[in-house]
Amino acid sequence: MALVNIHFLNLQKNYLFADIAKKVNAFKVMHPKADVISLGIGDVTQPLCPAVTEAMHKAVDEMATAEGFRGYGPEQGYDFLREAILKNDFLPRGIHLDVDEVFINDGAKSDTGNFQELLHWDNFIGVTDPIYPVYIDSNVMIGRCGVYKDGRWTNVRYMPTKAENGFVPELPKGRPVDVIYLCYPNNPTGTVITKQELRKWVNYALKNDALILYDAAYQAYIQDPKIPHSIYEIRGARKCAVEFRSYSKTAGFTGVRCGYTIVPKELTVSTFEGERISLNQLWLRRQCTKFNGCSYISQRAAEAIYSPEGKQQIQATIDYYMQNAKKMLETLRSLGYECYGGENAPYVWMRCPDGMGSWQFFEALLYGANVVCTPGVGFGPSGEGYVRFTAFGSHEKTDEALQRIEAWSKG
Ligand SMILES: *Cc1c(COP(=O)(O)O)cnc(C)c1O
Repeated sequence: MALVNIHFLNLQKNYLFADIAKKVNAFKVMHPKADVISLGIGDVTQPLCPAVTEAMHKAVDEMATAEGFRGYGPEQGYDFLREAILKNDFLPRGIHLDVDEVFINDGAKSDTGNFQELLHWDNFIGVTDPIYPVYIDSNVMIGRCGVYKDGRWTNVRYMPTKAENGFVPELPKGRPVDVIYLCYPNNPTGTVITKQELRKWVNYALKNDALILYDAAYQAYIQDPKIPHSIYEIRGARKCAVEFRSYSKTAGFTGVRCGYTIVPKELTVSTFEGERISLNQLWLRRQCTKFNGCSYISQRAAEAIYSPEGKQQIQATIDYYMQNAKKMLETLRSLGYECYGGENAPYVWMRCPDGMGSWQFFEALLYGANVVCTPGVGFGPSGEGYVRFTAFGSHEKTDEALQRIEAWSKG
């Protein structure tokens, strides 16, 4: 008899964006003429840059010749891309990594979700709260999170980030956390972590023999030169941290699919008997078994963002989105709303006015201004009372949405 993995049945049924779509559709049925603008979903909107599309066309043409054809590539990625990553993303920050420590993937969602497979099922996980739902849900799937009660999992340590603590999570007290998920710049709050604060986490991990899974998907949006782009800027991090990166937000690759994970060779975790096991070796084994590599065309596309033209072109798009973020912050603050993030990340995190709940404000904004935001509580219990706005829209749509919010707020 084939039995189901019952842990999947514990997953919360309604996915945030499906709920939002349902509410937006209900609104559209009642108001068929209304033109709804979404500042909600975290997908990019601007096209791929020319350096990338030229590299893709070239790669396709190569594949059309007998000499240039590529079949299965190395599971961990082609060296041309891994070397470009080391040379451009890490060496300029004084970080020396080996090619074997870079694993190319089809985006950060897969690896942030899959990496937990390497860890014993009863590790105790900790997440900053609110957070990208993939981290918890992928652990729920193997039964690591306990049961869901009153909006939280009983076996997960939630480390709140809110206005009251300046969005700086406190180190866990009491039972030590074994696996810590950090995401900076943060989705959904758009806030960042200083080197000094990050150092505290690295020291905590080293002291408690914990593992940090560090998601740096938004590092390209950092404007402040003092903010770390990589956890490996902190001494000792190679012994305790894995880092996930993605071209999705950096270069508009949400549809192309390519990213990478750094698993340092110095990083080990323990068996019950105290033997140290290399996660780099284990991840290589896992990838070779379950993954057949990211497409050659996508990897050539990713390589192209490191050319001088590519760098300049992707920066122009990042600047374009960050202009939206700046305008959003200015307008919302001028209307008296309390806003966070948006300076080193494409997200603005806004406190709902007058003690309103996330969903309550979401509906008020939808019906009042025909603008869609993302209810903060969808990202975890500490997100209640906040909403997220994304800067990934066009200038025109963003400006129009802000004008409507202004008219509605003043009206
Ligand atoms: C968008 C996003 C990613 C990237 O996912 P991909 O699978 O690379 O598209 C990773 N982490 C967070 C927090 C994100 O918001």
